[in-house]
Amino acid sequence: MSNNQHEPVAIKLWNYFTAVINWVQAIFPNYRKEMKGVEWGFLYNDFSSKSLDPQKLEEEIVQLMRDEDATNKKGIYQYVLTRNEKYLSIRKFTDNQIREAYERQKGFCPKCKAPNNEYELKEMEADHIKPWSKNGKTNAANCQMLCRDHNRRKSDI
Ligand SMILES: [Zn+2]
Repeated sequence: MSNNQHEPVAIKLWNYFTAVINWVQAIFPNYRKEMKGVEWGFLYNDFSSKSLDPQKLEEEIVQLMRDEDATNKKGIYQYVLTRNEKYLSIRKFTDNQIREAYERQKGFCPKCKAPNNEYELKEMEADHIKPWSKNGKTNAANCQMLCRDHNRRKSDI
């Protein structure tokens, strides 16, 4: 079989890859090794028609690269476009921080209306008092234990 009949498809694909690369270079002109392996095709499909400010994005990327709580540096590029925190793998509280908050609260959930409702440690979940998105850090001072019900309700908002 001749290869010629595949040529139009190959050219179309090549044009698409070129468009993706050009877009990435225009939006993220400062190359970093973390850009390798990002699924740029999907981001191009969803965001190439949106107006984006490369300078603002770069400032935010610099800040996130320095943020110890953003543990997945590769996910920064997905995050600044999609705003989905799952890409950053925000640092979890350590067992010590969790224990400290639990002892401080003496097993009470601050959101429960009935204050006599005491919980076992395993019935509670750690929560950022001030959310990470509002500059809240993953440290002992910003850790509170909520009963599962209230933690799930909080994360639904
Ligand atoms: Zn509760």
